[in-house]
Amino acid sequence: MSALDEPTAVVRRNRPSRKAKRRGRALTTIGIVLAVAVIGAAAWWGWGQLAGSGGDGSSDSVAASATTAVPTTTTTTTTTTIPTTTVPDVIVAPLQLKGNPLPVVFRIGTFDPVAFITIDDGITQDPALIQFIKDNNLPITMFLTERYAAGAGVDYFKQLQAEGATVEAHSVTHANLKGKSLDFQTREVCQPVDTYAVDYGVRPKYFRPPYGNYDANTLTAAASCGLKAVVWWSATFDKGQLALQEQPLRRGEIILMHFNDHLIDDLKILLAQLDAAGLKPAQLTDYLDAAPIE
Ligand SMILES: [Zn+2]
Repeated sequence: MSALDEPTAVVRRNRPSRKAKRRGRALTTIGIVLAVAVIGAAAWWGWGQLAGSGGDGSSDSVAASATTAVPTTTTTTTTTTIPTTTVPDVIVAPLQLKGNPLPVVFRIGTFDPVAFITIDDGITQDPALIQFIKDNNLPITMFLTERYAAGAGVDYFKQLQAEGATVEAHSVTHANLKGKSLDFQTREVCQPVDTYAVDYGVRPKYFRPPYGNYDANTLTAAASCGLKAVVWWSATFDKGQLALQEQPLRRGEIILMHFNDHLIDDLKILLAQLDAAGLKPAQLTDYLDAAPIE
């Protein structure tokens, strides 16, 4: 920071002219910009911790080790080290491959004060939920099992989709995939992708394995049908209880819920808890879509 010390000395020696004051202010501004860049780099490094830390509450899921992403950009040639994304108002850390064919996501690395509500399966189809989602303008991501979401279920979930809910894949039959053949897993993982592309007009990009159980074949299958990531979770909410994989509740949480008869009651309590924590619900797929993969 010698460049900062020098102008300070100059200003002190000579009664500063207006020009010198302007120059001083300009140099101060440059100093602030550099400081922001350094803080940004440090924060990004911290992101690696956030994004990499795993909600690995299951002994039979592939463990997510907390490796860190060390920034490779310099801090002198840019005023910010925050990665740019394709969605202007979404700032998100990269999804990390860690040697897999596609990323497994446990939480979102972001500075935004947001959390993500995901709702799975689809066996219970409460009409009141549609109005609740609409009234609260609530962004949710639905990981739907094909046996509930295809055929007779399409009308219901399309109404949720019309309120902003996104449709993602959660297998055909809700089978436990871990240990199954690649052929079996490919059908379970990929068939709903094609089905939903027709039924819902949007091709799913994300897969959540039933019970959170997956293995290398799951990831190979998911990559084979063009999915971008396998999505786990960092918290669950059920019957009024928030269960975090890691304390405390913080930005970027991916919260797992299910379509069941107490979902609306749970959502009311969860929204109050998020609000008290200064977190707003956001659409998970906005952040996943925007995230680069590294
Ligand atoms: Zn499920």
